[in-house]
Amino acid sequence: MRTPSFDLTGKAAIITGATKGLGYGMTHALAKAGADVVVVSRTKSDCDAVAEEIKSAGGKAIAVPADVSKPEEIQALVDVTVREFGKIDILVNNAGTAITKKAIELTEEDWDKIMNVNLKGPFLLAQAVGKQMMAQNSGKVINIASMFGLVGDVNVLPYLCSKGGMIQMTRGLALEWARYHIQVNAVCPGYVKTALNTSELDTEKIFKYITGKTPMRRYGEIWEIAGMVQFLASSAADFMTGAIIPVDGGWTAQ
Ligand code: NAP
Repeated sequence: MRTPSFDLTGKAAIITGATKGLGYGMTHALAKAGADVVVVSRTKSDCDAVAEEIKSAGGKAIAVPADVSKPEEIQALVDVTVREFGKIDILVNNAGTAITKKAIELTEEDWDKIMNVNLKGPFLLAQAVGKQMMAQNSGKVINIASMFGLVGDVNVLPYLCSKGGMIQMTRGLALEWARYHIQVNAVCPGYVKTALNTSELDTEKIFKYITGKTPMRRYGEIWEIAGMVQFLASSAADFMTGAIIPVDGGWTAQ
């Protein structure tokens, strides 16, 4: 009887936004499960530091600074990964950003910035990685969307649109790439305290408002999002593709 395995020994994984918050937790989780990791963010010193942490813990890691909103840096990231590890088994499209503003005040630059980092960059990276995965006839793409790709909120319009777009990108790629044994899934986190939002979530008013609206009455923890990513990256999730999975304390069940 075969039982599921969550082991990632020898798998090569690219994680964007790997130096802080959710991505930092995912990077450590995948490395602990045995994956060789490519640590990506725009800040070289942070990438170097996280890669060093993984190596000191006995893992394999390379630091590849790149800005996912710059198409010219995306192919270079894929090329370095293939040169170092010979393949790409897992892509975690995690880097993302937000602007809090009323819709009426948004500029075209605000719109383009969020779309480029949260949607266009992840698409171009998935496309470049997808070519390599097709040649391998295997791979896992995990897109970190948000519960705000599933439901609305105020003052974050480009974020809502980018994450909703990422969810549809997940379904579209899953359908096109199923025949190449590439599974594409999305995780939709609820509120978790990270650099992206700590100043906001730490205020008493916001804490009361958000936890009051969350059925589980708390924020999520970084490891709780990392756990879902590890599962989707593993062979235990081999029959899943095009799935959109909330990890949100029940927010979108309402
Ligand atoms: P975070 O703490 O702000 O970390 C963002 C990471 O992405 C950092 O490592 C950052 O490093 C990197 N990054 C930002 N822009 C980048 C770019 N253009 N190219 C490459 N790397 C870039 O964010 P987080 O809260 O962990 O969020 C991670 C993902 O989860 C995002 O997609 C976010 O939308 C999603 N999410 C978060 C929550 C939450 O409550 N935290 C909820 C739902 C969804 P550098 O600045 O050095 O590049």
